[in-house]
Amino acid sequence: MLESHQISTLKSLLETPKRISIIPHRNVDGDAMGSTLGLYNILKQLNHQVTVVVPNDIPEYLKWLPGTDNTIVFEGNETNNATRILEESELIFTLDFNALHRTGEQMERVLKTLPATFVMIDHHEKPDTYAAFTFSSTTYGSTCQMVYDFIQDLNLSHYINKDVANCLYTGIATDSGGFRFPRTTGDTHRIVADLIDKGAENTQIYINLYDNSNYNRLQLLGRALQNLRVLPQYNTSYIALSQDDLDEFNYEKGDTEGIVNYGLTIKDVDFTAFFSENKDEKIIKISFRSQGDFDVNQLARKHFNGGGHINAAGGKSFDTLEETINKFIAILATEKK
Ligand code: 5GP
Ligand code: MN
Repeated sequence: MLESHQISTLKSLLETPKRISIIPHRNVDGDAMGSTLGLYNILKQLNHQVTVVVPNDIPEYLKWLPGTDNTIVFEGNETNNATRILEESELIFTLDFNALHRTGEQMERVLKTLPATFVMIDHHEKPDTYAAFTFSSTTYGSTCQMVYDFIQDLNLSHYINKDVANCLYTGIATDSGGFRFPRTTGDTHRIVADLIDKGAENTQIYINLYDNSNYNRLQLLGRALQNLRVLPQYNTSYIALSQDDLDEFNYEKGDTEGIVNYGLTIKDVDFTAFFSENKDEKIIKISFRSQGDFDVNQLARKHFNGGGHINAAGGKSFDTLEETINKFIAILATEKK
């Protein structure tokens, strides 16, 4: 938690209009986008000049979030003003990530040079120390829930309108797997109850998030499920999608969201991985999920250039898809007894 003197300092900083940027991690998910836009929709009401700068493109399934139209994408758009906006910011909030490299190499390089005061709000393990104000706790199931508490601490809860409520509800719902992961507490439910009272459209949010697939996306899911392999001796499963699989079904950003979870739905499987080949970035992107004590954050950090949480983490490999899977299977012998 932030100390009370830090809260007072932030409160006074926010009393006069400031130039503020808010940044989520690269490849945003519901929590990253919900928390940044939730905070954006609060700070905007306080007459700050606020910009959300996303490292790379926002997937379609999140573009309905209120405030998306005013975000700026850093990568692949050299004509936009992202760098200038960051350079001119007095205050920079970094949300849902714990190290600047999570914004990507290009953006990290810019962020490292900035004079702004940084505020981190994040629930991942092992936060870096770049921020003057670090609000980091792994007891939270989502950054959106942290933003909610942060808003309370700053005595700004009367600014939680329908837009803010929709944003924060989204990240709490997605990062908790629909209120079922272990960090879901009574507080989580009390908070979403309050968000619904303040206008969060819970039914519509689920429709926007999950009932918006096109035919190709479901066919790609079909391919993924056919590619599912089970290693019963390790209570482990994995799914791989090659670039060819993705191309065959006209893959668009966001289409593989949630696929990793199917690996855990098999009885007696408590650890799963999802590999997807990205020929453009010359990497294999990996997602890990577990149930119970098996720490996928550790595994992702140690072997796959990544990190995250105990039961949900990600990483990447620079080997081929086949080599990556072979390495994964070899590691199981020592890491998953
Ligand atoms: P996902 O598998 O949904 O991409 O990510 C699961 C969790 O791990 C999220 O909290 C995400 O922020 C984190 N994560 C995903 N990829 C990486 C990575 O490459 N490095 C680190 N440090 N964390 C990651
Ligand atoms: Mn999160």
